[in-house]
Amino acid sequence: MENLVSVRNLKKYFNTKEGQLHAVDGVNFDIPTGTTLGVVGESGCGKSTLGRVVLHLLEKTDGQIFFDGKDISDVTPKELHELRRQMQIIFQDPFSSIDPRMSVSQLIGEPLKIYKLVKSKEEYNKRVKEIMDIVGLASRLENSYPHELDGGRRQRIGIGRALILNPRFIVCDEPVSALDVSIQAQILNLMQDLQQERKLTYIFITHNLSVVKHISNDIMVMYLGTAVEKSESKELFKHQYHPYTKALISAIPRIDIDHKMERILLKGELASPINPPDACRFAPRCNYACDVCRQSMPPLEEVTPGHFVACHRVRELNDL
Ligand code: SF4
Repeated sequence: MENLVSVRNLKKYFNTKEGQLHAVDGVNFDIPTGTTLGVVGESGCGKSTLGRVVLHLLEKTDGQIFFDGKDISDVTPKELHELRRQMQIIFQDPFSSIDPRMSVSQLIGEPLKIYKLVKSKEEYNKRVKEIMDIVGLASRLENSYPHELDGGRRQRIGIGRALILNPRFIVCDEPVSALDVSIQAQILNLMQDLQQERKLTYIFITHNLSVVKHISNDIMVMYLGTAVEKSESKELFKHQYHPYTKALISAIPRIDIDHKMERILLKGELASPINPPDACRFAPRCNYACDVCRQSMPPLEEVTPGHFVACHRVRELNDL
């Protein structure tokens, strides 16, 4: 399968009073067309920044971004305007990402006006109604306002706005984190159905590994701006090799009492991403840290076919 989106050595640094904040620090990935890359990590690990840099919502510091085989790392404003039609985003909090003074139909149809994609009021109404139907919003809600709707319906507006331009790629930034568990499942199912029908390609960003288990083909675990483990989703849930991924998986509640996993508690908080030393960024919280971990950053290496891990001691700790 061809890759729709790829990035190479992507970096995003922010200048702060204290120094340079390394939000994204040398990330690489490929996403084949019609598949989902789940990006997982604690808040502050750089996953949302990564999604925004890929979409050019934030300017990259270094590295390359490819879309549909073309290098789009440096694009003109005109090229970017065209790209935006094909590359969309769904935000975490639907309420804060939409204008509360606009009705449901105005919110969903706004991108059509921005891109001047319809020639008449009738065509506009038809397209909006189609999308409302596709995302499961009853037509009686077309004149409702966001504050009159529950969180699930508001998120459906966000999905409708992203879909109406007929994009090929969507960054989904914690799209279900603010929703009740029962509504989360509905939205995830909707997103999976849409992916199949429209061959959509997703980056699905979340702090919750269990949310991405079923929707992702591949999963990349991030820690302080870097990828620490990456593999197919099924493989990652079977075998985790990085101490951080093991801790994340052990924290998922289980009902299978025969296969109970002892929860690995992480000590301390994320270290500062400002001027990070050349060392494993997980070392201050890792039970296995030794001198070499504090002297150089481990590269992301393939330890079994298709399974990549960034840990100096990965083979020794996992008998590989
Ligand atoms: Fe832990 Fe060292 Fe591996 Fe980092 S490189 S995860 S500190 S064992």
